[in-house]
Amino acid sequence: MLFKSNGPALLPPPDDLTIPQFMLDSFHPARPVREDHSPWLIDDQSGKSYHYEQIRMRVHGLANGLTSRWHLKNDDVVCIYSPNNIEYPIAIWACHRIGAIVSGANPSYTVDELVYQLKTSRATILITHPVSLPVAREAARITGLSPSNIILLEPTSSGRQEFAFIEELATEGLTFPKSLYVEPRLRSGEGKTKIAFLSFSSGTTGSPKAVAIPHYAPISNVLQMATYQEVNQYQKPREKRRFRPGDVCIAVLPFYHIYGLVVNLHWMIFSGLSIVVVPKFNFIEMLKSIERHKITHLMLVPPQIVLLCKTFFQQPETRKYDLSRLRYCMVGAAPLSAELSLQFEKLLPNVVLAQGYGMTETSTTVTMLPSTEPRGIAGCAGRLISGTEAKVLKPDGSLAGYDEEGELMVKGPQNALRYQNNEKATKETFIDGWVRTGDEVLIKENGNVYIVDRLKEIFKVRGFQVAPAELEGHLLEHPDVADCAVIGVPDEYSGDVPLAFVTLTGDAAKRVKENPAEGDRIKASIKKHVSDVKVKYKWLEGGVEFIDAIPKNPSGKLLRRLLRDQAKAIIAKR
Ligand code: AMP
Repeated sequence: MLFKSNGPALLPPPDDLTIPQFMLDSFHPARPVREDHSPWLIDDQSGKSYHYEQIRMRVHGLANGLTSRWHLKNDDVVCIYSPNNIEYPIAIWACHRIGAIVSGANPSYTVDELVYQLKTSRATILITHPVSLPVAREAARITGLSPSNIILLEPTSSGRQEFAFIEELATEGLTFPKSLYVEPRLRSGEGKTKIAFLSFSSGTTGSPKAVAIPHYAPISNVLQMATYQEVNQYQKPREKRRFRPGDVCIAVLPFYHIYGLVVNLHWMIFSGLSIVVVPKFNFIEMLKSIERHKITHLMLVPPQIVLLCKTFFQQPETRKYDLSRLRYCMVGAAPLSAELSLQFEKLLPNVVLAQGYGMTETSTTVTMLPSTEPRGIAGCAGRLISGTEAKVLKPDGSLAGYDEEGELMVKGPQNALRYQNNEKATKETFIDGWVRTGDEVLIKENGNVYIVDRLKEIFKVRGFQVAPAELEGHLLEHPDVADCAVIGVPDEYSGDVPLAFVTLTGDAAKRVKENPAEGDRIKASIKKHVSDVKVKYKWLEGGVEFIDAIPKNPSGKLLRRLLRDQAKAIIAKR
């Protein structure tokens, strides 16, 4: 059967606006009018803040600066490789004002990983932060990007400024009497194809790919969430509204990831909240920020809920922080067990724990807790948000009905367009207007969606995607590895951690046979081979296991389920 959202009807999202035109220039009936003069962005540590008018001016100044000095133009790609920063959204919207495309990269990426993203996205400008500069510089050198194409979000503390920085450019850009850039004015429907972001995701299989996200998709997703949550609840008494004037949301989720970008940043600002921008997540610091900034709304991933529940039990002193203003906590990006959500609700009974589900390919949200539910539903990822349709494919290819498990397919205005420059992967995931999620789900008659399992290869470590194919390709470069397979094995905090099954080369196997201690040396060397060049969440924390042969079907496809069963037995014995 075809499942449809049972939420309020979605008004057609504008398909002729860019994201800054939607966020900064236009009025939409689903948007609450800001009843106070609260800032849009607040820097967590310094308390520096930007109000709407300042942001609008800064975006304009920076767009001028980027045009005058770099001749940045329509459809050029700009990579932002930085921790969260108050200038990050300014940089995004300034690029969009010019018609350029933004590709956010994980600031923990190593040189190799950043090189891969720069090459795949074909970025010509790299915006970074002084703390990320050494890696950014090296990656730029390798990809042939001139150092003069590096721009900093903040000046370096050293005094002498080798690179241009946002403040300088925005200020300089405002001295020009008129716009130096030609802002795209989209024809009706053009927003559906004009690319805003190239965000990286591995999809159901293979290495990370650039997901082409048009302006229309995040705009739609913001409106879908706003409609579904009845953000514009003027008719409701103030104390019944989920979002109220003066509400403040913390942004510990990274802006380079779709959840941080669309839900935490754009949706929260649209909903009238102030955003406290935090560069790097630290649990105790987050508790302090919640108290200091009187945070009302949290956006988190499951490991952060684990931390919250655990430390509250194990370190009673953490309870001294005043969290009394918290009312709403959204959690998504990875599974959250029913037990954990019940624990959370016991600890913070006045906070609604709202699980959401989505993916980069759907420019975030597909399901979330409806506003009609006063409490989170344990183990449930919510219901289809306004304007979203779903099909559930059973293993035999037929369509599932209520209470039947199968692979979720999603259709809605939030769907991305394609994997950029990758026709083969596009065909497998973007099918006749549907996105194939690779997630196994079950939908109940009341619309509740339960994520049952992950059918696709990728797994998630602390909410971050790990693509087995990427690690396997790298492991094969190790001199002792003849064949390998990487799977995720369960971990209480991280969700999953990577474990590598390895078939040794003849020579290595002989060495291990002669001297069993050699096995441990090889395992350590394989782990190091990964940790030397990959970001920490990809490290083989689940261990390395030798195996005679990697199980494959006759056509050579890895039988990961078999390996997962084997891993379970190994872990039980450890
Ligand atoms: P990403 O593109 O990095 O956001 O990853 C998307 C994937 O994260 C989904 O396809 C799911 O496998 C997983 N995911 C997101 N939200 C949830 C959730 N609430 N429960 C379980 N898995 C989730």
